Amino acid sequence: MKIVEMYGDSRVGVIEVPEPEPRDNWVMVKVIASTICGTEARTYHYGGSTFDSSYTNSGHEAAGVVVKTGPTARIMEGTRVAVIAHMGEQCGQCWFCHQGLWLLCTDIADGGAEYDGTHAQYIVRPDSHCIPMPDDVPFEIGSILVDAVGTPYRAIRRLGVNGFDTVLITGLGPLGASAAIICERLGARVIATEPAEFRRSMAREYGVDVAIDPVSEDALARVMELTDGRGPDVALDFTGYTEPQMLCVDAVKVGGRVGFIGLKYDETPDGPVPRPTPITVAGHLLPKELTLIGSWSVAPHEMLELFELVQTGLPVEQLITHRFGIDEAQEAYETAFNQRGCKVIIDPWA
Ligand SMILES: [Zn+2]
Ligand SMILES: [Zn+2]
Repeated sequence: MKIVEMYGDSRVGVIEVPEPEPRDNWVMVKVIASTICGTEARTYHYGGSTFDSSYTNSGHEAAGVVVKTGPTARIMEGTRVAVIAHMGEQCGQCWFCHQGLWLLCTDIADGGAEYDGTHAQYIVRPDSHCIPMPDDVPFEIGSILVDAVGTPYRAIRRLGVNGFDTVLITGLGPLGASAAIICERLGARVIATEPAEFRRSMAREYGVDVAIDPVSEDALARVMELTDGRGPDVALDFTGYTEPQMLCVDAVKVGGRVGFIGLKYDETPDGPVPRPTPITVAGHLLPKELTLIGSWSVAPHEMLELFELVQTGLPVEQLITHRFGIDEAQEAYETAFNQRGCKVIIDPWA
């Protein structure tokens, strides 16, 4: 079968490898749609894998069909599934697992090299990582729900965004764009900051009220002006960079809610280290009585809610701007990282 190999230095290729075999409760999924994610920038530039994979390949957002099952798998062959973007099999028994928070499981089994990237014709995963999709939810949509839509959805849900809110979104990459679409659907007013012109003009098409260029404008002054000097009710950062993170904290109204979803590391000779963000209790949290959350991935029950939202018209198909066959993987990555597109889908069979 074919997989996309990550060579580093912004070069990728396609190689042939043996098909994987599902063991125990694992299943083999024929990947129909696999989406490039911003978090693959690291593997694109430095090589390696999204997961602790046996290959230097990438991809963690996919949907497809179960074509082979291990002896104890509890999912039928032929089931259409969205594949959760988690690595490591949750224990299913700890406090967090019972809450549906697999990613926070305190006893994750190390699946190791079996978690190969999803830019492949076939992958194997634990059966519980494969969420059956309704027949009228397309594979491409399933592949963007597991992270690009699901991750912002979880943060928005946790912050209780509603139709009375004005929401500031910093960064209109795929996750920020997706957040804007979800907030619009909930009836909130959305203002955003984004340096890339293409993304700002695309944002106006999916209903963002005002898209501010933080390079040529004083973003804080503009946000305050747009919110009667009070600040937005909610601010969501999708960049992971310090300046937009601090804009969220500084702009949000007294008593406001802030969600941090974007994640960036500084590359050092010892490997990536988290960026410091200078938020203080005395300077920010207490005087403004802020509620701050970090939000990570999406829980399985939220995937079921997302299927229903898609079935009732959540227009996330707008996020998909490009499609490539697996042999065009190089072009697919260049498109995904030149900020001229939003979600870029790889079809492993085209
Ligand atoms: Zn992702
Ligand atoms: Zn657990």
